[in-house]
Amino acid sequence: MFEIEIDRTACDGIFACLTRDSRFVEDDAGLATIDVDAEGVVEVVRDDERNSVVATVEGDIEDATLAARACPPDAITVREVDA
Ligand code: SF4
Repeated sequence: MFEIEIDRTACDGIFACLTRDSRFVEDDAGLATIDVDAEGVVEVVRDDERNSVVATVEGDIEDATLAARACPPDAITVREVDA
């Protein structure tokens, strides 16, 4: 299990992430978020205080890692978590 955190202050809507991991989608504000209905996504939580989105995901971490590496402003953090 792992988490994907998107820093919505840093995100600038370039969407390099969308082409690396299909769980990433554009939200109403034109920023990246995670599709709660995508395969492996357990939950998606919006943290307004930190202005971030944190998704808990089961499965292969590789695509999310590629998305994080491709993000120009480093707005994506991917970390493994205990199940
Ligand atoms: S690549 Fe980074 S900056 Fe661009 S939309 Fe995705 S999270 Fe936001």
